Amino acid sequence: MMDADAIVVGGGLAGLAAAIAVAKAGLSTIHLAPAGPPDRRTSALMMPSVEYLQSAGLIGEPGAFGQKLSQIRIIDATSRLLRAPETVFNAKEAGLGAFGWNFANVRLTEAFQASMEALPNLRTIAQPLSQFELGADGPEITLADGSHLRAPLVVGADGKKSLVRAAAGFRARENGFTQAALVCDLELGRGLDGASVEFHYPNGPFTLVPAGGNKANLVWIDEREVLKQAQALSKEALTALLLEKSQRLFGGITLATPTHIFPLSTITVDHAGANGVVLVGEAAHAFPPIGAQGLNLGLRDVADLSAALAATDRSQPDWAVRLSEDYAHRRADDLSRTGGMVDTLFRSLLADMLPAQALRAGGLWALKLLPALRKQAFAVGMGSR
Ligand SMILES: Cc1cc2nc3c(=O)[nH]c(=O)nc-3n(C[C@H](O)[C@H](O)[C@H](O)COP(=O)(O)OP(=O)(O)OC[C@H]3O[C@@H](n4cnc5c(N)ncnc54)[C@H](O)[C@@H]3O)c2cc1C
Repeated sequence: MMDADAIVVGGGLAGLAAAIAVAKAGLSTIHLAPAGPPDRRTSALMMPSVEYLQSAGLIGEPGAFGQKLSQIRIIDATSRLLRAPETVFNAKEAGLGAFGWNFANVRLTEAFQASMEALPNLRTIAQPLSQFELGADGPEITLADGSHLRAPLVVGADGKKSLVRAAAGFRARENGFTQAALVCDLELGRGLDGASVEFHYPNGPFTLVPAGGNKANLVWIDEREVLKQAQALSKEALTALLLEKSQRLFGGITLATPTHIFPLSTITVDHAGANGVVLVGEAAHAFPPIGAQGLNLGLRDVADLSAALAATDRSQPDWAVRLSEDYAHRRADDLSRTGGMVDTLFRSLLADMLPAQALRAGGLWALKLLPALRKQAFAVGMGSR
């Protein structure tokens, strides 16, 4: 006896979006979403993702709680022999009003949760999954309180350390980095005027993303130890350090929130679906926040899950197995292309070898000068398919 058509595990943004998509496809859905601390990250979402969120009814007008991203400035702040020129990408050049929008994850979470309320076939249980088994009759789940649930389809959206991924036997490759990301909100002397500004330092980028008015979200990637030391500084000393790293381009800086540090790693899976189990979001893929790809890719997972659901005949007894295979097939190219692109970009940013520096500097010169290449770069960065 099945408890639902589908169980979605994980209450992050990918899990919320997936639970809504599955319920909207008409499946009786249980969403396992244990309460956790608020997600202090922000997400730069490219236009295709924003359009998806609007068409899926997950958000209304992005301007109500997000900030438009109309320019990307890349500043080589290394003292390397071969330095790249400052490169500026304008959305107008790509024929767009904006590359995308920057949102606080807590605001996206609120918007997604609000759109869940209208779905009577979606039930949320605020408990974690403690055990997952793939029996002869399909997936079986044990909750933290010892109760059991069964459904033909399970969506694993339980993040980087996904229990669903491990227990369902998905082969994953993981690679930890010594770098981490420090995030916080800043009040600047001068606003960013819609520009996301990336200072490329030898240990990783220091990025200021527009957050409305003179506010900016900082995403600073560096060695974990360097970030921990920065975090331990007095407010005045940290402010002085951030001012120096931003090359004083935006006047004074005031810390608007406490700092948070996120460890960085990459995770890739061979297949994102099999045996009635599909993986979405960081359960299926994780990489450093370079080129704002993580949640953008997670939302493309959800869009493909919706497409696979629409293409599946659920009157067949093995529908969930076939759906999981169809989903894996739909996701394969995008996952391998995006993962490869971010990995190459990250390594080229950190590489100390002269050939890699030459390639990167040459690449940015080419992007600065060659319109056709810029057009291609826009398409890749936006996640166009
Ligand atoms: C500093 C930083 C900046 C970033 N900036 C961007 C950006 O600008 N643009 C972009 O597209 N991406 C960005 N990303 C990536 C993006 O934040 C992530 O890809 C996205 O938030 C992942 O969402 P998720 O739901 O897959 O995972 P998570 O947010 O990790 O959610 C996983 C959920 O699963 C739950 N869970 C775990 N185990 C269990 C269990 N056993 N049972 C039930 N639930 C469980 C957890 O409680 C959690 O709620 C950034 C990441 C970082 C670190």
